Amino acid sequence: MSEPAARPGPRSAALFERARRFTPGGVNSPARTFDGVGGGAPAFIDRASGARIHDVDGNAYVDYVGSFGPMILGHADPAVIEAVQKQAAKGLSFGAPTGLEVELAELICDMVDSIESVRMVNSGTEAAMTAIRLARGHTGRNKILKFAGNYHGHVDALLVNAGSGALTLGIPGSPGVPQSVVDDTLVATYNDLDSVAEAFAAHGDEIAAVMVEPVAGNMNCVPPVEGFLEGLRALCDDHGALLVFDEVMTGFRVHPACAQAHFGVTPDVTALGKIVGGGMPVGAVGASRRVMETLAPTGPVYQAGTLSGHPLGMAAGIATLSQIRGGAVHAAIEPRLDALVSGLEARARRHGVPLTVQRAGAMFGLFFTDASRVTRFDEVAACDGAAFRRFFHAMLDHGVYLAPSPFEAAFISRAHDEEAIEETLNAADAAFAAVARG
Ligand SMILES: *Cc1c(COP(=O)(O)O)cnc(C)c1O
Repeated sequence: MSEPAARPGPRSAALFERARRFTPGGVNSPARTFDGVGGGAPAFIDRASGARIHDVDGNAYVDYVGSFGPMILGHADPAVIEAVQKQAAKGLSFGAPTGLEVELAELICDMVDSIESVRMVNSGTEAAMTAIRLARGHTGRNKILKFAGNYHGHVDALLVNAGSGALTLGIPGSPGVPQSVVDDTLVATYNDLDSVAEAFAAHGDEIAAVMVEPVAGNMNCVPPVEGFLEGLRALCDDHGALLVFDEVMTGFRVHPACAQAHFGVTPDVTALGKIVGGGMPVGAVGASRRVMETLAPTGPVYQAGTLSGHPLGMAAGIATLSQIRGGAVHAAIEPRLDALVSGLEARARRHGVPLTVQRAGAMFGLFFTDASRVTRFDEVAACDGAAFRRFFHAMLDHGVYLAPSPFEAAFISRAHDEEAIEETLNAADAAFAAVARG
């Protein structure tokens, strides 16, 4: 990619200059930089509605980031915006219970079979952190088993990069995470039950929990292979460990009742985020009442939050989940994603670009590879990064906004109508041609 990107434009570039002076890298979350796609200013966003986001330079893009997951109804959904505005007028936060928290908790427990009781937090990271503390407190064990390429927010104990393949004792994935904090973190290979069985063989009665993304969405989009989640369930049962599904991304996206309903595997503990807050900073941890009552004030495991159950977040979450509950949102999205995926595959073929598309519910991922299926982190990492970068910039230039990394999943919303899909496919035609030119 030698020619400079035509988009975003000078206003984004000027804001980026200022941003870099006052915040590291100019962004408040590293996933937003364009460093992974050749650098330069990311699009600074002015507003969004439906399937489209608009940057400060006046460009409109069909958006497949969706705030990295929450916006399954589309941007600025009228019911969500109205609920937030109404609540804002009543005051922002009270530090005392509200009916909104009860309503969202009831909705979550009603929609997700494995959840009888839920604690609201302020982010997916907090939900994951609380889930492992709860699992450790409940089982009286210390070790947590996670998977290479799975992401659970920036929780110290889970920021472990074990490389692919071998099961190893955790090595800190980031300076600032002491070795002692990850001494109890084990890393296995996603979609490889043998690697999990090995860990249980070595540490069976020390493992508090297996923590897994039921569809891996932070190494592009990698669904579980047949029997993987079922196998985790059986191993946890055999060894008295809790199975924790990190459904921060997949919750209410892969299925209206979460990925656990889609795959028919019931976890002990579920971490939620993203859609549960409808675009507001909300996370939640849910489980059976027995497990949840390990948390303070009913139990000894401490967990708290000044702004937890925030009224605006609760209002947005209620307005979002109540629309998802009946299944209509997912029913509307499915044929659109069918059309998008088959259209992308056809255009890639036409231009001779090797492409594999994987999907689960309302999330999907593009892999520039000859492989017909991608199931493990090392296979994801082996895809053609240069092809992705060319594709990304060409799509951006043609008005389609993808996440600026080949390791992010793509998100579709109810607002992606036929026109938005067609616009995307027209852009993709040009983008695959650019990839083919090299
Ligand atoms: C996004 C994500 C998180 C972290 O959520 P934040 O709200 O960014 O803290 C945790 N787990 C998974 C699976 C995620 O996709």
